[in-house]
Amino acid sequence: MGFYEITSILLILLIVISIIIGTNVRRTFKKYNTYSAASGITATHAVRIILERAGVNNVMIKPCRGSLTDHYDPRDNTVYLSETVINSHSVASIGIAAHEAGHAIQYAKNYAPVKTRGAMVPIVNFSSKASMIFIIAAIIFESAVYSQTMLIIGIVFYSVYTVFTVVTLPVEINASKRAKSLLTETGALTADENVLASKVLNAAALTYVASMAVSILQLLRFIGLLSRRR
Ligand SMILES: [Zn+2]
Repeated sequence: MGFYEITSILLILLIVISIIIGTNVRRTFKKYNTYSAASGITATHAVRIILERAGVNNVMIKPCRGSLTDHYDPRDNTVYLSETVINSHSVASIGIAAHEAGHAIQYAKNYAPVKTRGAMVPIVNFSSKASMIFIIAAIIFESAVYSQTMLIIGIVFYSVYTVFTVVTLPVEINASKRAKSLLTETGALTADENVLASKVLNAAALTYVASMAVSILQLLRFIGLLSRRR
């Protein structure tokens, strides 16, 4: 069994693990979404007091559709909270909302990794599509003389996506770190409640670790495909 086969098997295993991690996020959120915070505040209110405490102004809070679709959009400087989170008093929802506020603070404070990640977004969208086109073409036209070149170009494009998943990780961990300390500082959550909110945030952070691991392994697998052909 060669390098390509080994990475292929590991990739399948890792994808299964990723699915379990994803299910765990929903399960953990559901569990701690039944615990109301003693402060009695909503997730929206938590975002406001956190941003105020951090000295960050002019951030808007708007609703967005879906479940666990909460995000911060730097283009309109808005924290988008999902329907289940926005008016919730639960420690899970407050934790998630605080994490998104953490992203808003990262932009306001010019946190370097978030700037790098933000600048990469348009390039990543293009390069991940391009990588698939080149790699699939290289597989279909395997016997063509330019097949190897297409594969190399595909791998280069794919590596941009891999770098993106690596840069995403510190951004996500840092947003949760900011959220946790500000939730305690503002009294939005008690120390005990913060532990529960952290469980939700840590479960979510694992999904980013999984995405990074999948993309690194996929990149290695493509490199394995290249070396097998030589
Ligand atoms: Zn995040």
